[in-house]
Amino acid sequence: MRCPYCGSLDTQVKDSRPTDDSSAIRRRRICPDCGGRFTTFERVQLRELMVVKRSGRRVPFDRDKLQRSVEVALRKRPVEPERVERMLNGIVRQLESLGDNEITSEQIGELVMEGLKGLDDVAYVRFASVYKNFREAKDFEDLIGELTSEEPAPRRRGTRKPARTEP
Ligand SMILES: [Zn+2]
Repeated sequence: MRCPYCGSLDTQVKDSRPTDDSSAIRRRRICPDCGGRFTTFERVQLRELMVVKRSGRRVPFDRDKLQRSVEVALRKRPVEPERVERMLNGIVRQLESLGDNEITSEQIGELVMEGLKGLDDVAYVRFASVYKNFREAKDFEDLIGELTSEEPAPRRRGTRKPARTEP
């Protein structure tokens, strides 16, 4: 596995264990060349998914790319990596269970928004603002209103933090 910091191919596994839900193997790796530490996950892939872009172009579904866009939205937010991992697993399972090997970028975007909504309000707004390509301030206001309004769902809402609006 190539070191993400210096590009060396000579990285070593220091620790290997299943994730909390046993859906993946988590490996802590270290690079002897630069001392960089990083984590990789080994998972089941049920089927090969193709993403149909808005342009009509088809590209293979790339979980790492999905993860990167989610991580950009979650940057500096206090969310545990294991929860992000579970959310990503959930999204991929949902995509795989749609019954079609072709999925649209819209379907992915909607699932990510749903997932982030339950994970972190700020990340949700960040992702949605990019995904929905908002141009007007009012769109943000509507979204914030959606987050701060009373929701009818009674279960597990007590622990949610109020929406914060800083970037
Ligand atoms: Zn390195």
